[in-house]
Formats: sequence, C-alpha cells, structure tokens
Amino acid sequence: MSALSLARPPRLSVLLSLACLWLLLSGLGGWGVHWLAQQAGIADLRASGEHRMDLYAASLEREVDKYAFLPAIVALEQEVQTLLSRPDDAALQQRVNRYLEQLSDRAGTLSVYVVDSHGKVKVASNWRRPDSFVGEDLSFRPYYREALRAGGGRYFGIGTTRGEPGYYLTSTLGPTPGQVQGVAVVKVGLAQLEQSWAAVESPVLVSDENGVLILSNRPEWKFTTLQPLDEATRQQLANSQKYNRRVLQPLGWQVLRALDANTALVRLQPEAGAASAAGPFLAQSRPLVGTPWRMTVLSSLRPVNQLALSRAWVAAALTALVLLLAALLYQRRQHLREQLAAQAALQAANDALERKVEQRTEDLSLANQALQQEVAERVQAEATLRAAQDELVQAGKLAVIGQLSTEVAHELNQPLAALRALAGNSQRFLERGQPEMAHSNLQRMAELADRMGHITGQLRNFARKSAGQPQRVELAQVVEGALAVLEPRISQSAALVSCKLHQPDLKAWCDANRVQQVLINLLGNALDSMRESSRPCIEIECLQSESWAQISVRDHGPGLSEQAAAHLFEPFFTTKPEGQGLGLGLSLSADIARTGGGRLQGGNHPQGGAIFTLSLPLADTQPLC
Ligand code: ADP
Repeated sequence: MSALSLARPPRLSVLLSLACLWLLLSGLGGWGVHWLAQQAGIADLRASGEHRMDLYAASLEREVDKYAFLPAIVALEQEVQTLLSRPDDAALQQRVNRYLEQLSDRAGTLSVYVVDSHGKVKVASNWRRPDSFVGEDLSFRPYYREALRAGGGRYFGIGTTRGEPGYYLTSTLGPTPGQVQGVAVVKVGLAQLEQSWAAVESPVLVSDENGVLILSNRPEWKFTTLQPLDEATRQQLANSQKYNRRVLQPLGWQVLRALDANTALVRLQPEAGAASAAGPFLAQSRPLVGTPWRMTVLSSLRPVNQLALSRAWVAAALTALVLLLAALLYQRRQHLREQLAAQAALQAANDALERKVEQRTEDLSLANQALQQEVAERVQAEATLRAAQDELVQAGKLAVIGQLSTEVAHELNQPLAALRALAGNSQRFLERGQPEMAHSNLQRMAELADRMGHITGQLRNFARKSAGQPQRVELAQVVEGALAVLEPRISQSAALVSCKLHQPDLKAWCDANRVQQVLINLLGNALDSMRESSRPCIEIECLQSESWAQISVRDHGPGLSEQAAAHLFEPFFTTKPEGQGLGLGLSLSADIARTGGGRLQGGNHPQGGAIFTLSLPLADTQPLC
C-alpha cells in the first residue's frame, strides 16, 4: 500500500532549505569563477606590467646614460682643470663659463657647473642668468659630498636656487683620484621623459631611497611619499634641502595584499588624486640598476574586477540554471522511479491477488470435490440408512406379526374348527338327503373362509415391503388397515376402540404402508399399556390442524412414566420385559414420520393415559403428480 501511495509534496521548510542550498551553490559557483577570473586577470596584468616596467626602466636608463659621460668630459677639459689651479683667472673663468654654456645647450642639460674643493661654484653654464649658480656654496649638497667621497655619482634633487628638480651627475676633478680639486656637475631634467610617460594612462612612478616620488606620469603625485616620513628623516632632508622645502605629503599608499616581495594589490587614498586613480591597483616594482631608486608600475584592477564580476554573474546564473536543470532532472527521474516502483508494487499486488484467486479456486475446487464426496457419502449413508430403516421396518413388521401369531392362530383356529364341524354336518346332511341344510352350511363355510382370507390378506399386506414412495393416502383407510391387522389382539383383549374421523376423506401425503406400521406400533403400545386394565379403551382421532393431517391415539392406561417421557424416542429404550419389546418401535416410528416430512409427538393426556399424535403433510398442499 505504501509503495502505491502517491509521493507527498515536500514541506515548506525542505523547500526553503533547498532554495537556500541552491542560492549558496550558485553563489559559490559565481565566487569561484570570480576568483579564477581575477587570478587570470591579475596574471595578465602582471605580465603586461612587467613588460611596461622593462620599457620604462630602459627609457629612464637610456635618458640618464645619455648624459653619464658629460661630467667626465668636463673633468677632462684642460681649461677647467687649469681654472681650478688658477681660481682668480677671470678671463679663464669667462672662457670656461662659455664652454659649459655651449656644452649644456648642445647636450640639452639643465645646467653644467664646476664646484671647487670648498664647495663653491666656480663656473656654470647659466653664468649669464641673474640666478646663476656661480659663487654659490653647495658644500652641503649631498651629491657634492657623495662625489668627494666616491669620486662621482648620481643623485636626484631639487635645485636650491631655482627649485628645479633634476638629476645630478657628478665627477671629481684633479690630477689623481686622491687629489680632488673640484667636482663637475651635470644637472639633467627628466621632464621630457615624464612627458613621454604622460601619454600612458596607467600610473608609473619612481621613488628614491627615501620613498619620495621623484618621477611620475601623474604630476600631482610628485614629491609625495609612499610611506609617511618620521620627524628625524624630515629634519635631515630639510637640512640637505634635497627636496628644497617641498612638503612631502604621503601619497596614501595602502597595501591590500602582498602577492610577493615586489608585487602587491594597493589602494590609494582618494585625496591622492582623481577618484579614478584611487584604485585598486596591481603595483609592481623593481630597483633600478645603478641607482637607489625603485620603479613602480600601477595597473588598474578595475577592468579585471569588472570582467571577473560580470563573469561571476554569468557563472552564478549558469550554475543556478544547471542546478535547476539537475534538480528538475532528478525530480523527473525520481518521479519515474516512483512510478516504476508503484507499477512493480501494483504488479506484485496483482500477482499476489492472482495467486490468491488461483489458490482460492483450487481450494474451492478441492472443497467442492470434498463436498461432492461428502454428498455422495451422505447419499450413500442415506441409502444405507434407508435400507437399514427398511430392514428395521420390515423387522418391526415381522415382530408385530410374531407377536400377533398367537392371536392370529387363535383367531384362525375357531373358524377352522367351525369349518371342520360345518363340513362334517354338511356331509351328514347330504347323506340324509337334506341338501338345503348342506347348502346353508356351505354358505356359512364360505363366509368363514372369507373371514380367514381377510385376516391373512391383511397380514400379507402388512408384511409386504413398501415401495417407500409417498402418495395421496386417505387416513381412514390406513386406520382401518391397522385395526384390521390388530383385530385378533383387539378382540383378544376385549378393548374398546373408537375412531373419530372429523373429515372422513382427510388425505395425507405419505407412504400408507409405513404410516400403517406407525399406527400399529402406537396401537400395540396402547394395548400393552392397558394389559392390566379391566376395561381397555383406545380413542383414535383424525383431523386437520393447520397444514397437517393428524392421527392421534389415546389410551386409558397408566400413561408415560417420567423416565419413559424423557427417553421415549431413543432407540432400545423399553420398559417391557425381555422378549416383549426391543425399544425400537417409537424411534422407528418417529423416524418414519420425519422421513415423510412429518413428526410424531407423545405425552400424557390431561385426563389420564398416554396420547401420541402423528402429524403428516396434507395431500392438498402437495403438487399433483
Ligand atoms: P417397546 O414397545 O419395544 O418397548 P417402544 O419404542 O414402542 O418399544 O416403546 C418404548 C417404551 O415407551 C415402552 O417400553 C413403554 O415403556 C413406553 N410406552 C410406549 N407407549 C406407551 C403407552 N401407550 N403407555 C405407556 N407407556 C408407553
């Protein structure tokens, strides 16, 4: 039954859980694709960033290297060296100023100048200008000190005179490296380089050893710092006037996640520039060879994020769709499986039912066979019973005849004696010639013979085996026949027998011979009970009661004892002395009545004696054959 029952719809809580799971998996799908797309995008950005950094670094190195030899050329100039040994030679100073002026113009540098061993500018390419360096004390400038210490170097700084940022290339002057007489300085502007970088949208920046941005294609970022500077560093930088009193605000550089030592995801504070430049960015940096600087290239992550986001949405939608399809497919398969299970269960139930029906049919046929056999056995038993009953009836009849034999013999003896006497008389009458008297005797003899024939005829009829077939029988005739059979006993006992026929032609549907047998039993018992009576009397009545034809036999004897009343119709119950009764008469009679569709009842009459009533089916109620 459970397999056949339809699947119940899932509960609301289950549906909600499934919906949550569906959303979660879709979200996970989207997040996974977002992560992958972001990683792929970052990898692409890294590759292009590396490439860009190569290009920028190469262009910067080219730009700087272009002027690298200039300080040495200045140092090699004979007049420059002579000037340092003759510092008061004004004409020489003038010539050298012009030389440096021409050199600077041709090389395209910001300025070229020579500082003596005291840190004072002796000659400069910008000698004509009012803010010329000539005479200035630059002994505090780091590039000067570095040159004295190392024999030359490179340095980024902002000019103290004109506040112009530039790249300082230095080389010491003197006959030998140990005898420094001065320092040749070439200041190179990188504005051109910055201009070429300006066309590039992605930010590129160069920070110096202090983390100060000295070059960038974002002018507003220049002279900001990657990290906030502590007070001591600020003081030191102010003293050296490296950045010529620039404020050096922090750029607002915020590392979101470091990918490796040189790569990180960063964000800039919005105030650092335009909102579009706030990031996030992929920041790649590397040290620039030959300098204490680092070049950093920023690649905006916005397109990568946008692409990853759009891919994530598509992936989430696709995941949701696929999950939905999978759920539908699963539900459909589940439904099919349930249908198949229900079909199988139905088939199994059907098979079981068929087996049951077959079993029942088999049982029924067996039961039918058993019933038929039982019916056959019953029929057989009934036939046997009937045969036994017939035999008993016959035995009963013979017993009655046996009982009657004395009375019959007595009854026949008298007419026989009379016949003998009459025959002798008749003979004598004929010898005397009195034929009339002989004739009269002969007539009397014939009557006696008839009477004897009637008695033996009744006995023969009674003794005859009946056919056992019911017929329309006039009860008066049956009573008459029974009385005729018992005539010898009745006359012997001098019993008074009265017969009252309420309907003279009352007919019953019965076997006359057997009913006669019953009546003879009843009448015999009545006679037996009144054996001691001085005035035996039997009353026979025939009447119709409802649908019955009834014959009652009442005697005036002592009636039924209590024991006899209790066991009246039991076979072999008798109170008669041995040899006079078998105790089968009433049980046989009751059986005959029952077989004929009637009944036999017995009891005591209220006014004394016993009364037996035989009820038989009325002949009128039976169909005519
Ligand atoms: P049997 O006549 O061989 O004894 P029955 O079956 O005819 O067998 O009768 C059984 C008994 O019923 C009798 O022995 C008798 O005691 C009692 N009985 C039958 N008819 C009468 C009667 N009319 N009056 C008194 N007792 C009777």
